Amino acid sequence: MHQIIELLGRANICIPFFCKKCGKCCREKSVEIAWGYFEIISQYLKIPIVEFINKYIGEVTKIEGGEIAYKMRCPRPCAFLETENTCLIYPVRPIPCQSFPLADFGDGGIKCPAKIEMKKAYSAIGRGIPYLIKDSGEVGPKKEIDKAYKKLEKAGFKEEYLSAFLELNQIN
Ligand code: SF4
Ligand code: SF4
Repeated sequence: MHQIIELLGRANICIPFFCKKCGKCCREKSVEIAWGYFEIISQYLKIPIVEFINKYIGEVTKIEGGEIAYKMRCPRPCAFLETENTCLIYPVRPIPCQSFPLADFGDGGIKCPAKIEMKKAYSAIGRGIPYLIKDSGEVGPKKEIDKAYKKLEKAGFKEEYLSAFLELNQIN
């Protein structure tokens, strides 16, 4: 996962995001699962939808004419969070989980360590908040990417981060 930062009038630079697999987002934030997703997830788990609701969402209170009524349990921590902070439904996880915490500047106040690292990279490269953040686009020019690389090195970013930075910012 990554984001592109656009430095005011100068360059587009791709910033790596490394999830630390700490599970804070799945423990401390509530994820709303839209009704349309219930079927997708229950099919993925290969269980009937009523069993799915009772096991992971809350308690089915009424079934009438194809309609299912249910009472929700507290969604924190997320019922799909497994030991070692893996997600039981990862391939079909809801959209907010797929985009967290890159959809905006924040992380909902949970202090996501990977987002903090990413913000440090913004600061090291762009002297504070970049002009614009987006999920895709061309990168370059190369001389600005080289300059950014040197700034990350100087700011103490480790080999893994620097390699990912170079890989993401290859200019063909
Ligand atoms: S809080 Fe951030 S680093 Fe931790 S699991 Fe969630 S996305 Fe990954
Ligand atoms: S569905 Fe998966 S990724 Fe989303 S909060 Fe639950 S455990 Fe985390």
